[in-house]
Amino acid sequence: MKPIPLLSLNLSENALAYRVIYQIRCPACKGEGVVGHPIWNEFWETDPRPQFEDDYQARARELGYASLEDMPQEEITCNECEGLGYVRREVPLAVALKELGLL
Ligand SMILES: [Zn+2]
Repeated sequence: MKPIPLLSLNLSENALAYRVIYQIRCPACKGEGVVGHPIWNEFWETDPRPQFEDDYQARARELGYASLEDMPQEEITCNECEGLGYVRREVPLAVALKELGLL
């Protein structure tokens, strides 16, 4: 005798209309809610890292700023999650059930 599936769905258009919203850790900021400002990413690309205040100031000037103090904040709110640290995704119910091993 064939086992009776615990759950069977008719994957008609109606079934696909059901959607599931789930949230995952933001891939852009890895859940931090903030990311490095692009100019600071460029700043830190210098290798070896600056060791003295004068080196930092020189690096800031190389990047077009009058001084280190004129540079923007090092971290900015993540655009991907707007600082929440997670993002919401939406998939058809059938897809969610399949990913959960229930279908
Ligand atoms: Zn984010």
